[in-house]
Amino acid sequence: MSTKNTISSLLCELRQTPDCEQIVAHVLDVSHVFLIAHPEKNVSSGDVQRIFDLCQRRLRGEPLAYLVGSKEFFGRDFFVNSSVLIPRPDTEVLVERVLDDLGKTNNTQSILIADVGTGSGAIGVTLACETSEKFSDRTISFLASDISHEALLVAQQNAQQHNVFDHIDFSHGDLLAPLVTHISSGNNSFDTLLIVANLPYVDNVSRETLLAKKESQALSFEPGLALWSEEKGLAHYRRFFLQLSSLPSFFHAHTIVCYCEISPEQEMDFSAFVASFFPNVTTMFVSDYSGRTRVGVVVYR
Ligand code: GLN
Repeated sequence: MSTKNTISSLLCELRQTPDCEQIVAHVLDVSHVFLIAHPEKNVSSGDVQRIFDLCQRRLRGEPLAYLVGSKEFFGRDFFVNSSVLIPRPDTEVLVERVLDDLGKTNNTQSILIADVGTGSGAIGVTLACETSEKFSDRTISFLASDISHEALLVAQQNAQQHNVFDHIDFSHGDLLAPLVTHISSGNNSFDTLLIVANLPYVDNVSRETLLAKKESQALSFEPGLALWSEEKGLAHYRRFFLQLSSLPSFFHAHTIVCYCEISPEQEMDFSAFVASFFPNVTTMFVSDYSGRTRVGVVVYR
């Protein structure tokens, strides 16, 4: 272990570690600017030890977000741990599309937004924050569900951190089951139901190949439950639409719009099986920031 104990000497020693500056700033609980402005500041031996431990983990490929416990999404910091997927910038296009669509709806409508498989809560919490700012004249209620109890705790913590905990009902369960329970227990006074979902969609068959590649090795630190799916990555969505097609008739008296994050090569298969469940429904697609299909939008009226 190093005997050096100023910020500049530490950073010099750690320069081979990716993101070492963020790690040092995190442990010292200071900003990046502070590191530059105070290179001479002494670092206690306890902090040096913590910095070295985190840098070791970073060098072994663990994503920075898990080491510092946070990731920015849609301009807000989200707490993350290894029970949840790290929010991706690609998912922001799903949030943008929902906000655009909400802007086009009549403001007398009451809306239920259900974030199915909420994980860190990035989608649901962001929508709760954004809609309370942009659509404060609307009646919008929220449900966030996940099959993982640990993930729900993370989502709740994020809702608290962003002051929307009271706006969201959190519920544990598989896919649409919590939504059905939520509605049958009396939360049924909405005109439109928006379901947002970033279900696991990475093809299980490609698992070994992906994990062997350096650029996608970080996936091995994320919860498998949130990433991998059978049937070319679409098994979870197939089950989701199967459940949707057999929902109690109450649901189908309402407009339902589903926003599903998928991977670009799944576009054809996704529209095909949506059509197999709902022959009269068309699926639209939204591209991510790199211009590749990322979200399927299914409108059921
Ligand atoms: N977008 C993620 C990835 O490609 C996958 C997210 C998911 O499976 N829901 O790594």
